[in-house]
Amino acid sequence: MKLSEKAEEILETLWVEVEEEGAGFVDLEKLRSSSDDPVYRELNELALIEVRDGRVYLRPEGKVEGRKIVRRFRLSERLMMDVFNIRGEQAKEKACQFEHLLNEGVDTKVCTMLNHPETCPHGKRIPPGECCLEAKRSGDLGVLPLTELKPGDEGEIAYIQTEDDKKMQKLMAMGVLPGNRIRLSQAFPSYVFKVGYSEFAIDTNMAREIFVRK
Ligand SMILES: [Zn+2]
Ligand SMILES: [Zn+2]
Repeated sequence: MKLSEKAEEILETLWVEVEEEGAGFVDLEKLRSSSDDPVYRELNELALIEVRDGRVYLRPEGKVEGRKIVRRFRLSERLMMDVFNIRGEQAKEKACQFEHLLNEGVDTKVCTMLNHPETCPHGKRIPPGECCLEAKRSGDLGVLPLTELKPGDEGEIAYIQTEDDKKMQKLMAMGVLPGNRIRLSQAFPSYVFKVGYSEFAIDTNMAREIFVRK
């Protein structure tokens, strides 16, 4: 369903208030808009909400749509923090912009890359998608830190999660880049791995920051 950004934001607020906080409706005032705002016509025509006496009610179809929007927003938050290492106010702003790009199909890819996270960085539950249920059923572990691999295992580097620019540069210089193949040859006393034709050894702290898709 293609909605305007404003409509998505209103559905998101409504879903959180109604489905998570247990409210029956949300006052128009609280949404900081008036009923003649065209966004209500948009939502009304799609039968997602109902506006009555200054109150906005979420209809069943609106609940379905709102859940998807909240899922996309919280996945975006995780993506900003876990992969791009963006935090605080800036993270929220970026997540708000990004969520509108995560249409169906893309959210599944992001969710899988993040290993089907259950909560956003603020501890709020991410409504699970089909991919999460499927991963649980099949025991697919998705993306793992290098430290979870056994010697002989190999996979594709999914992302690197470090706050230290120097470490990041060091890893990049080794060819530890998303998309490259990596093969672990030893896990003790240090992690020895092969990328391309070169072999490198790193400590546990660094190995923990490399995420691999097996
Ligand atoms: Zn959050
Ligand atoms: Zn998932």
